[in-house]
Amino acid sequence: MRLDRYLANRARLSRQDVRCLLAESRVQVNGETSQIMDLEIRVFDRIELDGELLQEGKAARYLMLHKPAGCVSATQDATHRTVLDLIDEPDKQDLHIAGRLDFNTTGLMLLTNDGQWSRRLTQPTSLQGKVYLVETEDEIDPACVDAFARGMYFRFENLTTLPAELVILASNKARLTLHEGRYHQVKRMFGHFNNKVTALHRERMGHLILDTALEPGDYRPLTEHEIAQI
Ligand code: URA
Repeated sequence: MRLDRYLANRARLSRQDVRCLLAESRVQVNGETSQIMDLEIRVFDRIELDGELLQEGKAARYLMLHKPAGCVSATQDATHRTVLDLIDEPDKQDLHIAGRLDFNTTGLMLLTNDGQWSRRLTQPTSLQGKVYLVETEDEIDPACVDAFARGMYFRFENLTTLPAELVILASNKARLTLHEGRYHQVKRMFGHFNNKVTALHRERMGHLILDTALEPGDYRPLTEHEIAQI
């Protein structure tokens, strides 16, 4: 919400009054005087008027989790353990998952209460590559490299996947970089070649790499530097 609208609603002021008090430098946002009427205000911002606190500003949270296998990418589930069950934080109910993984997929998962940040990471047009280590039942057909790079047609959604980069590491092992996140995408891409994915592990999302010090089920807050990379 714009700062002028926020002030008008919160302090029950007319637009003219809001204009005046901004011009008179009576409003502080995150400790700094602001005169910008259309400044975008978020729940994470601290806002003061004449030194009186209008909004405390929620703490923004950004966590990196090493998702283990056998765990649902959801905040609640009637039968299975969820990724949220692995988190021991007082405000964990405010967190959402930025980029889900299947039940048995392991690796990098990000949780946050900042919707703008997670949208930048997961929106379909995002250029943030997601890197997966893939193991398959049968030998990987070298034709996959070209087919994945051209894009695969998914009949159900009537779309062609964005170009993806496949590097074959061994007969049954490859590293795949996707630039979108379609339902069961990796499994369906290999499924076109009648090859079953037997293990899938996300190593990276954009510039964020899974911390090798995190055991499956462990998590840690992102650093300021990591948060800024998205
Ligand atoms: N693609 C899949 O098929 N599964 C995942 O968990 C992630 C990408």
